[in-house]
Amino acid sequence: MPVSVFDLFSIGIGPSSSHTVGPMRAGRAFASRLAGTPVASVAVDLYGSLASTGQGHGTLGAVVAGLMGSDPETVDPDAMGASLAELEDTGRLRLAGGATVPFRLTDIVLHPLTMLPRHPNAMRLRATDASRAVLAEETYYSIGGGFITNDSEGDVAEAAIPVDDAVPFPFSSGAELLAACAANGLPVSGIALANETATRSTEDVRAGLLRIHDVMESCVERSVARSGTLPGGLTVRRRAANWFEQLTADDPEHDPLFAMEWVNLMAMAVNEENATGGRVVTAPTNGAAGIIPAVLYYALTYVPTVTAEHRDDTVLRFLLTAGAVGSIYKERASISGAEVGCQGEVGSAASMAAAGLAEVLGGTPEQVENAAEIAMEHNLGLTCDPIGGLVQIPCIERNAIAANKAINAARMALRGDGVHHVSLDQVVETMRQTGADMSTKYKETAMGGLAVNVPLC
Ligand code: SF4
Repeated sequence: MPVSVFDLFSIGIGPSSSHTVGPMRAGRAFASRLAGTPVASVAVDLYGSLASTGQGHGTLGAVVAGLMGSDPETVDPDAMGASLAELEDTGRLRLAGGATVPFRLTDIVLHPLTMLPRHPNAMRLRATDASRAVLAEETYYSIGGGFITNDSEGDVAEAAIPVDDAVPFPFSSGAELLAACAANGLPVSGIALANETATRSTEDVRAGLLRIHDVMESCVERSVARSGTLPGGLTVRRRAANWFEQLTADDPEHDPLFAMEWVNLMAMAVNEENATGGRVVTAPTNGAAGIIPAVLYYALTYVPTVTAEHRDDTVLRFLLTAGAVGSIYKERASISGAEVGCQGEVGSAASMAAAGLAEVLGGTPEQVENAAEIAMEHNLGLTCDPIGGLVQIPCIERNAIAANKAINAARMALRGDGVHHVSLDQVVETMRQTGADMSTKYKETAMGGLAVNVPLC
């Protein structure tokens, strides 16, 4: 069954959907169970990738903010920072249900070398009463893109509104999606829209997607107004503000010759904001959040048929098409860097963006599928090795490179007739298998690659 576009594009905070947004949702879900119970203490254990890169990804603060009741979609990152500072001062944690318990971030126990069987991103939460009797205990898994699941309830992503079983055009593969397009004479976005409107009005879908796009644009606007270095200790300089100033002076009329540089800027601006812990749209993850906004910017700025009057419709078609392709990755492989490496994050986002652009360029469903396939084929094997466990190097530049790759993939597909050798389903399965074979040190543990070859100071 296809995953809703509103699950793949959710509003949250940086720097990581699986390590920040998911843990916050898990903390919040757990705290909601404690309302009305005589809770006297809580314990938090992080396992695998959450433990090994949790410091750099803000996981510890996120899970505690969730326990306080913060929601990734609405939390004010500055207020969250102040609450965490107060927690460290007082050693007292006020849970969402009202009880206050002794707690500091240093009480969180990290188990970086322990991988729980269900998923490498696991956390165990436990609450006890004054006599140390267990009131509630749960193991949550942050499975990528902010989605969470647990041992007792299954999927509990709070922002997730599952697409009803009664969608008119169920699909879980590229082949099924193409068959639905052919049988109904609809583009990929048409199939996706019909499925979304099985559970929401057309107006709600439209308003929801335009809001998602607004948040993407505001993220860029905030980012290009900020200079200095990114948090985390790597002293990585923010570049977007300076590039924005330069490009605005060099290319006031948006000459297509500068298109690649504007696309670079958009992707890097989003990812610098993400690295700061700011508000971003998970698309389909935070580490890869810059690719879809950058390629959508290209579609709105450089595709001649997209006039002001078609702008909103273009946003909808782009995001619906990208969402349809993202749903296939979520269903058949993974969008989690901890599970399949960066190919599942940046690769999936590039594939989704290429599909969205191909449709906006007037591609047939076969050309859209081809664009999605090309973009993933040339991201296969991409490892996740963030320096210092921070979503900064290689992540920020990688989004810019992948956005341009996605544009190239869409343009290559549009030069063909949609007939091609490797299908999207074959490349998705190849990505899944490659991820399964990939050494753990290249799957968001900061134990291999650039993370060990580049000194931290
Ligand atoms: S390397 Fe890729 S998967 Fe890993 S944190 Fe960076 S963007 Fe995410």
